[in-house]
Amino acid sequence: MYVDVILPLPLPGFFTYSLPAEIRHRAKVGQRAVVPFGKRKHYTGIIARIHNQPAEGITVREIHSLPDNQPVITPQQLQLWEWIAFYYLSPLGDVCKAALPSFMKPEDLVTRYLPKEERYYRLNPKIDSTTLNGLLARAKKQKALFSTIRTFLDESRQEMISRQAVSKLPGYSATTLKSLIDKELIIHHTLKISRLEESRTPVREPFSLSEAQQHALEQITETLTEKETTLLHGVTSAGKTEIYIHLICHTLKQGKQTLYLLPEIALTSQLTERLRGVFGNKLGIYHSRIGDNERTEIWQKMLSETPYEIIIGARSSLFLPYRKLGLVIVDEEHETSFKQQDPAPRYHARDTAIMLAHFSGAKTLLGSATPSLESYYNARNGKYGLVTLSERFNGIQMPRIQLVNTRELRKRKKMKSILSPPLIDETAAALEKGEQVILFRNRRGFAPVLECNQCAWTPKCSHCDLSLTLHKHPWQLLCHYCNRSYPVPTTCSSCGTGKLEPQGLGTEQLEEEMKRLFPGSVVARMDADTTHGRQAYERMIRAFQERKSDILVGTQMLSKGLDFDHVRVVGIVSADALIHHPDFRSHERGFQLMTQAAGRSGRKNEQGIVLIQTADPMQSIYHHVTGHDYAGFFKEELAERKQFGYPPFTRLIRITAKHHVENLVERAATHLATLLRRELKQCVLGPVPPPVARIKRQYLQEILLKLETGYPPQRVRQFLLKAEASLHAVPSYRYVTISYDVDPL
Ligand SMILES: [Zn+2]
Ligand SMILES: [Zn+2]
Repeated sequence: MYVDVILPLPLPGFFTYSLPAEIRHRAKVGQRAVVPFGKRKHYTGIIARIHNQPAEGITVREIHSLPDNQPVITPQQLQLWEWIAFYYLSPLGDVCKAALPSFMKPEDLVTRYLPKEERYYRLNPKIDSTTLNGLLARAKKQKALFSTIRTFLDESRQEMISRQAVSKLPGYSATTLKSLIDKELIIHHTLKISRLEESRTPVREPFSLSEAQQHALEQITETLTEKETTLLHGVTSAGKTEIYIHLICHTLKQGKQTLYLLPEIALTSQLTERLRGVFGNKLGIYHSRIGDNERTEIWQKMLSETPYEIIIGARSSLFLPYRKLGLVIVDEEHETSFKQQDPAPRYHARDTAIMLAHFSGAKTLLGSATPSLESYYNARNGKYGLVTLSERFNGIQMPRIQLVNTRELRKRKKMKSILSPPLIDETAAALEKGEQVILFRNRRGFAPVLECNQCAWTPKCSHCDLSLTLHKHPWQLLCHYCNRSYPVPTTCSSCGTGKLEPQGLGTEQLEEEMKRLFPGSVVARMDADTTHGRQAYERMIRAFQERKSDILVGTQMLSKGLDFDHVRVVGIVSADALIHHPDFRSHERGFQLMTQAAGRSGRKNEQGIVLIQTADPMQSIYHHVTGHDYAGFFKEELAERKQFGYPPFTRLIRITAKHHVENLVERAATHLATLLRRELKQCVLGPVPPPVARIKRQYLQEILLKLETGYPPQRVRQFLLKAEASLHAVPSYRYVTISYDVDPL
């Protein structure tokens, strides 16, 4: 008998081992197996198949041991792993590595998982009162502590008291307790205890829904009887979470589990409290910041007879074992942080969640105020159900969104800084009333883009409709999709008078400016520089929620589904920079960001005010934003995508070549592109150096594939892997690393 094992190493496919006779009867698919690999090492992998065919031409080694009696991976999980490896062109071993908590896959037979232990104390039942009195006759303190412990146990009807509890009793000291133990009046034990919190009881029933919410709930239930996936498009503050709570209750009643996916760990704490209130300890939390010991225990609990019925978490919670999954909720489904970047597998958690639900016979609900173009497209063409919720909960008004024409103000010499007079005035008025202000100054990644200082026009690639980036050596503008180069113009070709300059200031200067203008207020800045680590991010959010700061200046980090109760004004300082990012999704991101940012204002009592500063207010995207017109934006953007051949009309795959010698990686990427063009012809763009062309001492080159949506993934996969093998067959290109990003964001 043989088994095929998946090892948590960046290697494709399975490895075959033979099963020693004495453990043969115990082997099951999905079980862990410790196997020798390489010369001296041992790894813990997962059994994917059990069969009778030895692999030909190689010596098959024996499995070392089977550490568990039961599978730790369900058949649906194996199916999902194989799908991820196939679709995202990732080695199966990488998927295994990403999916399993690291303590579940020990190397070299060293287990790092440590059960949590606690010491417990109980009275020695063999001691009678005569012996007791004799032993304690001249020890007042010991006698007192002994009777305190006895009273505690009697009153609490417990057999044992924990070390933690005993240390809180009156008259406790370590020496006194030790004397009682030495005299064998008290016996101690060490017990394994769970790290998982079990003691939470629900405090409330789900709130009753408004008429609009109730209607949406009914529509969701109805569409999900026909379709596997439904999109809930509900404006910001529409009360989507309470609808989710009702759906979870419904799923619980059917005896099924719910997975609630969120894009950011930072958002889980806000939401967890709310869900705990209704579901108590039926709810488990799972994400990458939870310690490995605890992750391992959550995994074990999910395999047990009493698994969590609801899991709330970030991307990685997709990989837990669910045995009776009924519903997957993907909240803020448009968020880019659902996509894994590095390392592989570069999967999209939303799309993978839909597959998980599919394999488990469950349903998926996507929710967003600003759906991704792909999801809305799928909903409009009937692949998904679509439910729209267009009013805010509790009669809160939509914010008033106003455009500020900075071009006009500049002409009239009214712009003294990057902040316009209307934004300064509204900020002052809000602060006067003790309300808060958020200012966005966005910068996505690093890409030097030229912008007209008068009309905000940006040079674009005529072929790709993409903003061009400025390169210094040689001095030229370059398209980062197709590698076409353009001379650098000196004057604006749109207004004819403006000068082209690299895009403006960062958040730091904005913070300085606000401090100068409003010296009496507390200004906090939130961006990648000030929020190293998640905790810094959460601390800053909490401080703002608790009104310890008045003005928050930040990047798009701020717009992500956070709830603030006292924000009156939201300012978007340079909206043009946002939509000029060299990315075909820049308008979509801009629309989402402006709308989500606007949603942070005016939640409870008053209508919020949103000011968008732009030098080009005639662009239609601004009118869709001010009019809260998602459908209008969608229609227009979709037409652009169709014209220039972008998703959802094509499928993109980005191929990255990496090597520490610059001209070698250039030649290798050119060679690979030539190989690919033989079959894929004009679908192959590049190679091009990316905006940041050197990372960790490695030079990068990118090739972009724009494939027709009907092109079979199986064929693309075979062809790509064949081309990669031919590249690596050239001796000098052997060590050029090739990686794939399918559906890159
Ligand atoms: Zn181009
Ligand atoms: Zn201009």
